[in-house]
Amino acid sequence: MSSKIKHECGLFGIWNNVEAANLAYYGLHSLQHRGQDGAGMVVKNGDVLTRTNGRGLLTEVINSEMLTQMKGTSAIAHVLYAPGGMKRNTAVQPLLFNFDKSSLAICNNGALVNANSLRYKLEEYGSIFQTTCISELLAHIIRRSRLVTFVESLKRALSQIHGGFAFLLMTQTAMYAARDPRGLRPLVLGKRGDSYVVASESCALDTVGAVYVRDVAPGEIIIINDDGIKSEFFTSERSMALCGMEFIYIARPDSNIEGINVHTSRKNAGIILAKESPTPGAEVVIASPDTGISAAIGYAEASGIPYEIGIIKNRYIGRTFIAPSQNLRERGVEMKHSIVRSIVEGKSVVLVDDSIVRGTTVRRLVKLLKDTGAREVHIKIASPPYKYPCYYGIDTPSPKELISHKRSIKNITKLMNADSISFISESGLTEAVGMSLCMACFNGDYPTHLQDFAGIEVNENV
Ligand code: AMP
Ligand code: SF4
Repeated sequence: MSSKIKHECGLFGIWNNVEAANLAYYGLHSLQHRGQDGAGMVVKNGDVLTRTNGRGLLTEVINSEMLTQMKGTSAIAHVLYAPGGMKRNTAVQPLLFNFDKSSLAICNNGALVNANSLRYKLEEYGSIFQTTCISELLAHIIRRSRLVTFVESLKRALSQIHGGFAFLLMTQTAMYAARDPRGLRPLVLGKRGDSYVVASESCALDTVGAVYVRDVAPGEIIIINDDGIKSEFFTSERSMALCGMEFIYIARPDSNIEGINVHTSRKNAGIILAKESPTPGAEVVIASPDTGISAAIGYAEASGIPYEIGIIKNRYIGRTFIAPSQNLRERGVEMKHSIVRSIVEGKSVVLVDDSIVRGTTVRRLVKLLKDTGAREVHIKIASPPYKYPCYYGIDTPSPKELISHKRSIKNITKLMNADSISFISESGLTEAVGMSLCMACFNGDYPTHLQDFAGIEVNENV
């Protein structure tokens, strides 16, 4: 089985609250931007763990009547993003395993660089997999290790997997939250009265009225049970290389990651971009909605060029990024956006977006702007050129489809039919966020060994 399925995904867990299912539902709702392909929850009522999950948006999977039936005092929950759509062996999480005397629920965000080799080895030993999900893989490894305590088995299992991941697990007696040794995927801990809450982003803590306690550290497992919380590390090789794309695009602007507000970091990127790439003569700054808004505000503030709403997004059209063909993606972008003529007509426009991947969005926006009468369109991108694939769980097309892969800025500008295009520098992005980040998709400098992909890495970075 291939491990090509990747997840951005969102995790939410709550321990010790009579409203566990309701709170998990609300928490998950605020993480819906991380995945819209599936949703699920496992609720613990005494010793019984019960799973509800399905394909689609959270509201399509769990309705209010179902929620009233989901009784229990703890829960873990998941929203799934399945790039390219759901496949036969895509798992909607959490997974629930019932053993002779125990149960284990498990869900994850992220991807492994050694999933294929581990799966191959386990299959040789007789394991049979139903899905490509790394939660299923981890469950098999935990089960095989047979150490005295569950925590020891979990630690050993986590030390054998490599990549970018966050896991939430729940047994009859505890909830466990683990983060990869480079901190690539985010995970935060919060508290609501006597209840502990864990979530992919702090916006979910706010939604359920929990206070932020701290981020889970790279390589850490937090064990939460009725006695309180305990922290352990599953490896001594730990460092911080949080995913730059979380700050640039994935996380919600109201979330804080490692104490840094996402909107502020994006606005800073706009400020730095204005200093690195001024646009003399430009008359208006507009954003590609919604992901370019924070950086556009920063660009306008630093450049003194007025910020206006020049593009309106139709919120009822699905995501274009994952449409199956380029033609459909382009139609999607076209229907998704309308231009405010009076703002752009006859003007030199600065268009700010968070990133360019295939180039579909920006190319169509430039066309729409020019068709509506914009005199010039200068593109400012609040991330460096996206050139290399991600192996840590963020959906990336093949390098051939990445517009910045092996192309000069001049060439990209021509393809976009723009008057100019500028990207923030890597140092500018680091300064904007204020912490060390993984930027492998920009510079090919992967923070882990790539194991299953080592040969591919060499080819793609030439
Ligand atoms: P593209 O139109 O292919 O250039 O994609 C760029 C747009 O998609 C940007 O405006 C981003 O907001 C968004 N984007 C960036 N990375 C991703 C991703 N991994 N998955 C989905 N959308 C993304
Ligand atoms: Fe994030 Fe890019 Fe690193 Fe992947 S390669 S974890 S998308 S910064």
